[in-house]
Amino acid sequence: MLKDVFIGLSKNQFLTSAAKKYGLKLGAQTVVAGVDIGETIKSIRELNAKGISCTVDNLGEFVFEKEEALKAKNSILEVIESIHSNGVDAHVSLKPTQIGLDIDYDFCYENLREIVDAASKYDMHINLDMEDYGHLQPSYDLLDTLLKDYDNVGTVIQAYFYRAMDDIEKHKDLRLRIVKGAYKEPAEYAYQTAEEIDANFIKLIEYHLLNGKFTSIATHDHNIINHVIDFVEKNSISRDKFEFQMLYGFRKDMQLDLANKGYHFCVYVPFGDDWYGYFMRRLAERPQNLNLVVKQVFNK
Ligand code: FAD
Repeated sequence: MLKDVFIGLSKNQFLTSAAKKYGLKLGAQTVVAGVDIGETIKSIRELNAKGISCTVDNLGEFVFEKEEALKAKNSILEVIESIHSNGVDAHVSLKPTQIGLDIDYDFCYENLREIVDAASKYDMHINLDMEDYGHLQPSYDLLDTLLKDYDNVGTVIQAYFYRAMDDIEKHKDLRLRIVKGAYKEPAEYAYQTAEEIDANFIKLIEYHLLNGKFTSIATHDHNIINHVIDFVEKNSISRDKFEFQMLYGFRKDMQLDLANKGYHFCVYVPFGDDWYGYFMRRLAERPQNLNLVVKQVFNK
């Protein structure tokens, strides 16, 4: 119930624009690395010093104006340059709707191509984050077209979708991030119970670990992580074939513990003024995160 409320709030255009004006609020600063790339590079350096790499997300999604999409593209190009010039261990994650998928497919493709091309010069990976079901097939179309010319791009498989196994089989030669799925999707396309989603999540992770190029297991769920650790040991899968990923600010002790145990670890580092939708989805996933909000409100 609470999940539906936060997912609904995450799509509210008025609150999204208001949030941009007022900076990081409501505890968002604990899960968002900063409002600009300078602050973010500092956070990345701190994580790198602990043996943790980063994937950087210049926050933004569901953009409906060309000008805004071009601004987002230029900011992402700036992030690529900053990662390279600062010599930090990081790559880039982006959302297709941020660079124009809701405006025009070809316009979005050109923006994406420019980004992937710029990153390819530095041998930098670009991850195409996956959004809601309505954007799924067009996002795969973008990816498949890009793959004709570039190999520095990968994407996300959302375990709640019935079609996820087909998608992973088609893209097994890619570096893939596997997640449970963050949006509210109907039973027509997606599993609804935690048990079904977890079972499919494990099936997909095991498939890609055995058959795929490189697997990013993105979860805060210790049961899944422990299962993966057992699975890779039993199947003698090299630690260079996979990494764990978590979001910035979440389960920091566990992040460090896994990195210290010698597992590759990558933190998803969101930054920018468009933090509102991202933050609301995190509240939807884990209402305990409301504690962050309450603490911020009372610790003024
Ligand atoms: P949950 O199902 O939320 O939690 C399972 C259990 O883990 C909980 O019951 C609790 O016991 C424990 N747990 C979870 N969080 C905590 C915590 N903070 N502290 C203590 N215990 C905890 N989704 C998309 O749809 N598209 C994407 O492109 C995408 N990219 C992502 C990238 C990364 C790096 C990550 C980590 C997630 C991404 N997601 C994405 C979100 C993902 O789909 C899930 O919605 C989100 O990760 C919540 O699911 P979970 O696997 O972390 O565990």
